[in-house]
Amino acid sequence: MNLNALPCLFRKINQLVNPTRINDHLISEAAINVVSQLQSNNYEAYIVGGAIRDILLNYPPKDFDIATNAKPEEVRKIFKHSRIIGRRFKLVHVINKREVIEVSTFRTAPLEKIHMKNGILKDNEYGSMDEDIKRRDFTINALYYDPINKKLIDTYGGEGDVRNRKVRLIGDPQKRFKEDPIRLLRALRFSAKLDMKIHHETLIQIKPSMKLLETIPHSRLFDEILKFFLSGHARNSLQIFKEYNLTKKYLPSLDNLNASFEKFVYMALDNCDQRIANNKHISPGFIFSVFLWQDVFQLWKKNEIKYPHSSLALNDAIEKVISKQNKIFPIQKRFLIAMSEIWRLQIRFENLSQKKVYRLFSHPRFRAAYDFMLIRSESGQFNKNLSEWWRKFVETDDVARKKLINKIK
Ligand code: ATP
Ligand code: MG
Repeated sequence: MNLNALPCLFRKINQLVNPTRINDHLISEAAINVVSQLQSNNYEAYIVGGAIRDILLNYPPKDFDIATNAKPEEVRKIFKHSRIIGRRFKLVHVINKREVIEVSTFRTAPLEKIHMKNGILKDNEYGSMDEDIKRRDFTINALYYDPINKKLIDTYGGEGDVRNRKVRLIGDPQKRFKEDPIRLLRALRFSAKLDMKIHHETLIQIKPSMKLLETIPHSRLFDEILKFFLSGHARNSLQIFKEYNLTKKYLPSLDNLNASFEKFVYMALDNCDQRIANNKHISPGFIFSVFLWQDVFQLWKKNEIKYPHSSLALNDAIEKVISKQNKIFPIQKRFLIAMSEIWRLQIRFENLSQKKVYRLFSHPRFRAAYDFMLIRSESGQFNKNLSEWWRKFVETDDVARKKLINKIK
């Protein structure tokens, strides 16, 4: 018997025995339309990756990726509203109103990495569908679904792993982590996000491979770390960060939280998760301002003996804490600005004079600083009467605001 034909045979038997349980209602019209048009042009096309995994878990996917044997230029020709993006990998974004469908051409795993003139690794080698499936990271991310013919292709048992809630690397875990160490963080992230266990063969390679993370460019690492905390599973993520010593590596302040600040951090993370569940946005600056707040606060209070004004003591604390963090794991400048503003505005919630109140209220960073202050108050770190006053002020109209101010007078 030809052993190479086994995955294909297994796939066919599997399809007969297990008809798909994909809920097509969770697939966007735009994604179905892209698959349909590619197929009408005689190309293969499937919805792949996270979207199918999320549908099996009954979560509405946040976006849709499509894999096809059409080359980017060929995809571009089919869709009027599309553009080719990417330097390392060419992809096509097909735009449908406000939705962007990402279409990628089947690729092989990067076997030989060729350095191009600009230093970028060339691993944009087109391949067959089987190769494309094999290069994916986890079995749960290697499900290919054809929504027109209602066919699910599951070469590595991803559907079973979704149901058994297992994050399992495809292939030899040691090799796959070495090939791309970002997968270490992805394994932990999916286990936090989907509340899944990591399969033992993958798990035993995680701690010994952690050192490989040092080879990843900072910007890629930074983006991946943000996803832990900005995608609605921040509480789980922090627990996993602690368990795998990622806090020590990137955010050591989080390892030394006292009980009161720990309460503050978890309350803030729950608040962020709630916002995501309500389709609201979280800014990375907000998350980092929460993470480093204990250090800033403690140094601020210590500084107050040295400085004539509390705001000067706070400014110095901010500068020192940021500089310390930047030596460990630098935070991008645009986020640093937001964080510093959230912190600096804290002191201004203490002053209820009319002029100061309105000036603070109209500050562009007011909303984030206000949310931050409310969480401080809820966790017992800020005067409850003051925060209650602000809550009333924010939640009412102009006339009632004037009355609130006059009451203070
Ligand atoms: P999320 O919900 O976080 O977006 P996702 O699975 O869609 O999850 P993406 O980062 O959007 O994750 O990647 C899309 C797909 O590309 C993945 O499902 C996976 O099949 C593949 N992929 C992404 N990163 C890697 C990687 N480092 N190695 C191998 N395959 C990867
Ligand atoms: Mg995705």
